[in-house]
Amino acid sequence: MRSVDVIVVGGGPAGSAAAQRLKAAGANVLLLDKDRFPRHKLCAGWITPQVLRDLQFEVSAYPHGFLSFRRLHFHIKGPRLAVPCVQHSIRRFEFDAWLLERSGAEFVQHRVRDIRTDAGNYAIDGLFRCRYLIGAGGTSCPVRRVLFDHAPPRARALQTATLELEFPCDWQDADCHLWFFEHGLPGYSWYVPKASGWLNVGVGGMAVRLKQRGENIREHWSHLAGKLQRQFGINLGEPTGYSYYVRDFGGPMRIGNAYLTGDSAGLATRDLCEGIGPAIRSGQQAAEAIVTGSDYTLEGTTGASLGGGLISRCADWAFTRGAGRAIPP
Ligand SMILES: Cc1cc2nc3c(=O)[nH]c(=O)nc-3n(C[C@H](O)[C@H](O)[C@H](O)COP(=O)(O)OP(=O)(O)OC[C@H]3O[C@@H](n4cnc5c(N)ncnc54)[C@H](O)[C@@H]3O)c2cc1C
Repeated sequence: MRSVDVIVVGGGPAGSAAAQRLKAAGANVLLLDKDRFPRHKLCAGWITPQVLRDLQFEVSAYPHGFLSFRRLHFHIKGPRLAVPCVQHSIRRFEFDAWLLERSGAEFVQHRVRDIRTDAGNYAIDGLFRCRYLIGAGGTSCPVRRVLFDHAPPRARALQTATLELEFPCDWQDADCHLWFFEHGLPGYSWYVPKASGWLNVGVGGMAVRLKQRGENIREHWSHLAGKLQRQFGINLGEPTGYSYYVRDFGGPMRIGNAYLTGDSAGLATRDLCEGIGPAIRSGQQAAEAIVTGSDYTLEGTTGASLGGGLISRCADWAFTRGAGRAIPP
């Protein structure tokens, strides 16, 4: 059986950020992912200036497409508010593979199934052993499923349902557009242009509230498809779906020497469902806790993309109706 100090399960932003910090501290770290990279990951790929700071990301050193938009158009049931901003987009297909390589960690393609505790260590599928284990496997992370099975379940009301499509497109509008609450959607739909003629469009809402309304996320996809056809002359193909959780501000993040990060812990923001930044920050914090022997906290891991004030609270209320614990001040 292969023995290392730390195993990271999942090579998304949370796992790569953790692995990079651990490698920098000289830890013997192995990263396992079921997929070979680059791999497809459903995500609009919008990243904030905070993400760039946390990653010490230099745009000039990034070898792939990177686009900055100067305006965000918020469409709220019709009226449009154009907000000047500096926000960015990347393609996850490229970004995640780059982050993984940059981490310097050894990578093994392996789907984790079984995890056992064994004399203060963790044994994975009878093949790998480690003292510390980081769960960064997204919504259905096996570390959460196996080692956190006695923890309170995640609140269903905080689960999103999404559909999206990323495709080459001769887009003409380089700004990002977000449409909130259209046709009663408990969420929003988006148009996110990317460099080199790519476009990501999608729709996301809270799964329980859609069900309560007797609706399906596909109906909202059809509304979006109609709008993009009329507004931009864009015809959409078939989308794909994924589900993840927004932050509950409760529940254990660490049991023994096993840590949960990113979507495995359900850390996306409550107001815009932004998950890349919280994944990176929590991965770094978990690694820091292992390296320094300190507590694992989510200090500095944002729970609100829009500042946490009145607008964030209104958006949170509109999406979740106050389910789970509230956004802290
Ligand atoms: C449609 C959609 C649009 C989104 N748009 C945005 C956006 O624009 N901006 C933003 O900030 N956030 C966005 N998010 C959220 C964001 O994508 C996630 O929060 C983020 O990817 C979480 O990162 P992670 O590293 O925790 O998990 P992931 O990126 O999901 O990575 C988890 C990794 O674990 C691996 N894995 C899973 N199971 C196993 C196993 N058993 N064994 C080994 N490996 C395993 C997977 O292959 C995967 O590579 C969006 C999400 C969706 C669904």
